Amino acid sequence: LSPVPSDIEISRAQTPKPVDQLAQEIGLLQEETEAYGRTKAKVRLSLLDRLREQPDGKYVLVAGITPTPLGEGKSTVVIGLVQALSAHLKLNSFACLRQPSQGPTFGVKGGAAGGGYAQVIPMEEFNLHLTGDIHAITAANNLVAAAIDARMLHEATQTDKVTVMSQFGAIVISQWRVMPSECRVVLKMILTSQLVDTNDRFLRKITVGQASTEKGHVRETQFDIAVASEIMAILALADGLGDMKTRLGRMVVGSSRSGQPITAEDLGVSGALAVLMKDAIKPTLMQTLEGSPVFVHAGPFANIAHGNSSVLADKLALKLVGEDGFVVTEAGFGADIGMEKFFNIKCRASGLRPNVVVLVATVRALKMHGGGPNVSAGSPLPREYIDENLSLVTKGCSSNLRKQIQIAHLFGVPVVVALNVFKTDTQAEIDLVCQMAKESGAADAVPCHHWARGGRGSVDLAQAVKQASSQPSHFQFLYSQETPIVEKIRMIAQKVYGADDIELSPEAQAKIDYYNQQGYGKLPICMAKTHLSLSHLPEKKGTPTGFTLPIRDIRASIGAGFIYPLVGTMSTMPGLPTRPCFYDIDLDPVTEEITGLF
Ligand code: ADP
Repeated sequence: LSPVPSDIEISRAQTPKPVDQLAQEIGLLQEETEAYGRTKAKVRLSLLDRLREQPDGKYVLVAGITPTPLGEGKSTVVIGLVQALSAHLKLNSFACLRQPSQGPTFGVKGGAAGGGYAQVIPMEEFNLHLTGDIHAITAANNLVAAAIDARMLHEATQTDKVTVMSQFGAIVISQWRVMPSECRVVLKMILTSQLVDTNDRFLRKITVGQASTEKGHVRETQFDIAVASEIMAILALADGLGDMKTRLGRMVVGSSRSGQPITAEDLGVSGALAVLMKDAIKPTLMQTLEGSPVFVHAGPFANIAHGNSSVLADKLALKLVGEDGFVVTEAGFGADIGMEKFFNIKCRASGLRPNVVVLVATVRALKMHGGGPNVSAGSPLPREYIDENLSLVTKGCSSNLRKQIQIAHLFGVPVVVALNVFKTDTQAEIDLVCQMAKESGAADAVPCHHWARGGRGSVDLAQAVKQASSQPSHFQFLYSQETPIVEKIRMIAQKVYGADDIELSPEAQAKIDYYNQQGYGKLPICMAKTHLSLSHLPEKKGTPTGFTLPIRDIRASIGAGFIYPLVGTMSTMPGLPTRPCFYDIDLDPVTEEITGLF
């Protein structure tokens, strides 16, 4: 329809096929699915064993240029591309998407089911609780936090003075004495935060244990957003239930008085964690508006997490589509963060190698990188973004677009640029972007109209991806695991972000020394950096140069398997804007219809 109705109206106007019919169409056996209502099902991991001998399909990664705060349509491109491949090119294909976080859904950006005629349906179910994976992660993490506090309470009596380190420095807990038989797990440094999946900035620093019953065990701690947690990363990177259980047990939750790492296994909680997570490890099967299959698994936030969909979802989908089919998976935000982590962390863990990178660009983001005024959610777009402006587009292409193509080429994979067309884009602007993308080394560059037209609006992209996937890919990692931690961070900062160098705070340097001592030096790096710039400064658009990347602190996610530097002032708990999305969200109690979700 034109004009295109709201996302929720489009979603509601289409009746999804029953999930058991979808499962049958893609070759699943009845016993391989567990239905959650009529339109969603968990898929059992036994499927991987059954299809072990089946060759994998082609593996396509969708990444983007540095986005505006509104998002540039990566999810819609994933869905539009899969709709075009399946319904129009008649190729088996699968989309792998991440489950949205309640933070952005009720905050600035809204849901993440795609939009227009490129959506996962029913979008309300996709955007809200889905099959409870994020709730399970929150429950598991908070059980670890409770286990630590209980252990500290029960293993101490009030005769000895102990200093506890938190992220905020040293705190004298009170007078307490360690019971000798249990010394092994008494904590000096606590590394675990509490989790909640809401943007609640007041939880960035809190004090716990204030009741008199807690015998003076008052300490400062913090909440992180659930989707950016280590347990979410474990869910995304594990390659089965056994591997997930091992990784959960391996999580370092603190260090002992003698400086030894204390793990979840040491606390005796790893079995319980695996029990809480046993269903979350299975990907959820849903469908696009045009009935193509979608796996929804793992979480977003490639700025403060690795933010990729799960290894298991990708592996299952690659088997299901077979040799001639396509799996399209999404990495969060710009290629400098989501894609870099996809290659260096996820591909290292999975052993999978992508055939093509699709780099999503929009005229509006290119104009912003070319020097246009700031764009913010909830405010009308400035004139520069509505009227034709070839000069801003040219500058945006020769800075951010060119740099992001070069970043993908560092990994040796062919790039197809997908220009997600908005109704304000002019033909001259569209032609200019495609021409400049090819001049910057893209194998192809095509305008996409999936948002307004569904799969038929992305047929050119599907053809371009098919063509590029037949070219040889010369995949390589940016760094080897033997490279020292500091050098790995420096390589990402210089080669990917374009920094002159890095600057480590004394705290970050001390942690690196400790991690090296503990034998964590071979782990890959998961940078926590703003997604709004290639640098650490969100206001620096285009291709910033002449900056030094400040590393404030470094955490270690030993269960997930990466070292986690915090760049600049990056926070692991987002906040809400003055007018959050939740103002518009409502429910009709008679029809149970939801309004205001987009
Ligand atoms: P990303 O995955 O890059 O964050 P999304 O795919 O979630 O971005 O899209 C962000 C928002 O922009 C969604 O609300 C989506 O419906 C909207 N959108 C995407 N593409 C278009 C388009 N071509 N025209 C209008 N709105 C669009």
